Amino acid sequence: MTEAFDDLDFEYVNWVAEKAMGSLGEQHVPPTPQNFHVWFKYALGAPDELKRTINILIAQKRKFDSATNRDLYTTYVGSRGADEAVAHKVSQQLHDVLSSAQQFLNSAIADNRTQMAAISEVADRSGTDTDPRVLIETLMNELSRAATRATRLETQFVEKSRELDMIRESLSQSEERAKTDTLTGLPNRRALEEFFRAAQAEAMERGQPLSVLLIDIDHFKKFNDTFGHGVGDQVLRLVASALRERVRDSDLPARYGGEELIAVLPGADLAACTATAERIRGALAECKITRRSTGEVLPGITVSIGVGQFQLGESMEDLIDRCDRALYLAKKCGRNRVVTENELEPERAAG
Ligand code: GH3
Ligand code: MG
Ligand code: MG
Repeated sequence: MTEAFDDLDFEYVNWVAEKAMGSLGEQHVPPTPQNFHVWFKYALGAPDELKRTINILIAQKRKFDSATNRDLYTTYVGSRGADEAVAHKVSQQLHDVLSSAQQFLNSAIADNRTQMAAISEVADRSGTDTDPRVLIETLMNELSRAATRATRLETQFVEKSRELDMIRESLSQSEERAKTDTLTGLPNRRALEEFFRAAQAEAMERGQPLSVLLIDIDHFKKFNDTFGHGVGDQVLRLVASALRERVRDSDLPARYGGEELIAVLPGADLAACTATAERIRGALAECKITRRSTGEVLPGITVSIGVGQFQLGESMEDLIDRCDRALYLAKKCGRNRVVTENELEPERAAG
């Protein structure tokens, strides 16, 4: 484990471990190293989303089967490895900046002491019959030295705070990069999973609807084969921006797979989500595509969209699976259309 568990007090770690073992037993989760890692974190109470997710699963009396356990591990523990490496590097950099800041503060304090001593010596001599011009000159020298030191200190402070800004910037950039799809600039699957986890917990806590729309470009293979992948990529970017522009800031548009885009809409029920999907579909159907290099007008592209609403306690996979089946139905019914899960046959809707 690369986490800072080593810094915890022995008694405390022991207590957390026992608590974790207790919960593993209560929930009949086998105490494998991976499961123990998850439940140790749960007993520790961090991250907050792991705690909330497990609490919801327990409240709903869900079974912690091997798929759920694996999901919990990959979501909250396994995939954090890269984040931890970045966090470690940043904490090292911060340590360096802070220790050099401390060093120059110490030397500034020492300088000030010397200065105070020199000035009080001038004050002592002012009672004697020393020439006042000499006293004034000594005092002025000390003051100008103090001014120089203050300027140097300020410059060093400015330099250090610039370094801190750069560290902060590179940290937020690497976080951003890890969650962004390079081709479309949309959030990627990792960002989607993270967003969905929080949205799912919030929907359950507040009793609000949460819906998802899944988009797939129609006959995209043929488009690629005819015009080349470069033009295909351009189309994918176009669909991405049509999606991005038609969802709210509180929604999450993302690239789900190759030519499949998705959006999670917290607070939207099936009807609201379908309306959004319809706007995206309509806008794309009317869009004219021109080839950037030649200006040639290309045949229009259309998309099919499957829409589903989150059901209490289900996983993201289950919800997306229903959207996928609605999408398949849209393809079967002629493409360039939006189909919701309500249109699935009852036995198929249940999966
Ligand atoms: P349908 O209407 O049934 O969806 O037909 P389709 O041809 O779109 O479906 P299919 O799944 O057979 O093809 C998907 C195609 O999407 C195949 C693949 O080359 C293309 N694709 C996937 N990712 C990318 C990408 O990043 N860039 C480009 N240009 N094409 C991609
Ligand atoms: Mg596809
Ligand atoms: Mg397709």
